[in-house]
Parts: sequence; C-alpha cells; structure tokens
Amino acid sequence: MSILNGRCPSCEHPFELALIELKVGGEKKTRLCEKCDQYIKFEYKLHMASTSKSNRLYVKEDWMRKKYLEEKKTMQEIADICGVSSMTIRNWLVNHNIETRDRGHPKRDL
Ligand SMILES: [Zn+2]
Repeated sequence: MSILNGRCPSCEHPFELALIELKVGGEKKTRLCEKCDQYIKFEYKLHMASTSKSNRLYVKEDWMRKKYLEEKKTMQEIADICGVSSMTIRNWLVNHNIETRDRGHPKRDL
C-alpha cells in the first residue's frame, strides 16, 4: 500500500497517511499529532499522471493479443496508446509469449 510520509511542524514527529484515505485532486487535511497533541494542517495534491497518462494496458495479455495480432497494430501504435516506448511494448510481447513481427514487414506466411 502507498503511504505518504509527513512530519509534525512543531515536534518533528513523523506521521504516515495511507494514500487510500486521500482523494484524487487534493484537499486540505488535519491530523492530530500523537506526540504533542497539536493539529497538523496540510494540503496535498494527488496526481493521476502515473495511472492516466501512461496506460498499463500492455500488461494484459488478452489486450495485447487483440491489438497486435487481431488488429495488426504495430509496436509503435500500441506504444502510443499506452504512452510508453515501443521497446516496452516489445518486451511485454515477449513476456506474453506473443510472436513479434519485424517492423514494417507484416508476416505473410499463414
Ligand atoms: Zn507534534
């Protein structure tokens, strides 16, 4: 589980906050310091960049087979959809035991 670490500004006592408690986009939160009983006010911003910008669809074998084998998309096209490099897609194709085509040379043997 992802944890956000902070420190009490008065006594430096560390506190932890499970990211599951947080809302996407951010808000102001208050937490009582266990050590000095002061309220710690803090604001956080949670970015969805890691999940929305790069789309980890390539970890799904079914999806990869559909795109690469059925829809005949190239590694580069899939890479663009996922927001990663074509190298990453190649690695995952190998990982999923999907036979890779050479770039620009669609497989012709049946
Ligand atoms: Zn404190």
